[in-house]
Amino acid sequence: MLFSRNQVIRNIRRKPLILVGLVSLVALVYLAFVGTTLAAGQRSTKKYSYSKKGGLWLGSKNKDLVILHNLPDNHILHYDLNKLAATADVLGNEGEVLILTPMTKFLPEYWANLNKLSYDHSMISLGFIFPRNAEGDQALKLLEQAVKETQATKGRFKKITMLRQDTDALDLQLEKERHALKVQKERRAMMAVARNSLLFTTISPKTSWVLWLDADIVETPPTLLHDMMAHKKPVLSANVYQRYLDENGAPAIRPYDFNNWIESEDGLKIAEGMNDDEIIVEGYHELATYRPLMAHHYDDKGDKNAEMPLDGVGGGAVLVNADVHRDGAMFPPFPFYHLIETEGFAKMAKRLGYEVVGLPNYLVYHYNE
Ligand code: GDP
Ligand code: MN
Repeated sequence: MLFSRNQVIRNIRRKPLILVGLVSLVALVYLAFVGTTLAAGQRSTKKYSYSKKGGLWLGSKNKDLVILHNLPDNHILHYDLNKLAATADVLGNEGEVLILTPMTKFLPEYWANLNKLSYDHSMISLGFIFPRNAEGDQALKLLEQAVKETQATKGRFKKITMLRQDTDALDLQLEKERHALKVQKERRAMMAVARNSLLFTTISPKTSWVLWLDADIVETPPTLLHDMMAHKKPVLSANVYQRYLDENGAPAIRPYDFNNWIESEDGLKIAEGMNDDEIIVEGYHELATYRPLMAHHYDDKGDKNAEMPLDGVGGGAVLVNADVHRDGAMFPPFPFYHLIETEGFAKMAKRLGYEVVGLPNYLVYHYNE
């Protein structure tokens, strides 16, 4: 300690310039801090909010929250600057992950892949939402069984949440029925509501990343989380393909998800001519948008880490920085710029100022019914 409190007060009384000096110093340090934050291109958002009980929540965005409850009147804030700096620094190379899956069917391959993830399982929480029908009940039962086995072992996940939709499900479970254009708006709106319910009931102040992973993605690398996080993108979508046997019975692959796309002139023109409540869904010849689709940009000899900017995303395997959701990006169950669900989500993230990116050469595989 340089001076005692009394010494400081005495000095200030004698030499008022010291006070001016001190105030300027504090202002300078503050400006330098704000300056570097802005220079680093980070969006400055509020760092404090009051909890109901009068406690103060304090953190560097979501990265590390220090929760102080029932502060005395002359409260002093304690926080670990190193910790805040470290977490801000790695911006997403660490932190808690929330894997969210809307699920109509339980596929053992999907579950096996989660269990093989190389990321520390004690840092991973899982969330599921099931439709309110017989298929959903069956999936829930099988998942509960699988969870019991996993959670009894060393690789247990931090937390698992299972929800049942509070709305009725559409019973269109064949691939052909699900994909008919005329049912898309209703079906995608229902899916959007399911995703929102799942997200808003499971995200926590500690969640750094949300991975949206469909239940029928049956092949993903164990390094999926590390691989995707390394890109440090607010929204990052993998390319969803499907394995099949070609006409000679030889194993082959083909594109599956056409919702990862770049907006086109034709797409914008179609949207312009639409009524407020109409939506564009990608991959239908009735609505020829000529949008560049990520599914068609796969290059088997290309760099796995190649990136491409996107305007729309699907839900197959999408890594979202949790701040994007916290800032308000969700899955619109209504036409938003004539887009809905995951495609509407990408638009909303972009309207919030976030970059949306795809990995054309990073493949994950969809189940083949
Ligand atoms: P597609 O691959 O584009 O045909 O879409 P899916 O039918 O596979 O749906 C995407 C994801 O949502 C998958 O994980 C499904 O299991 C899940 N899903 C599909 N329909 C429903 C539903 O009615 N309720 C819930 N909760 N999940 C659903
Ligand atoms: Mn699917």
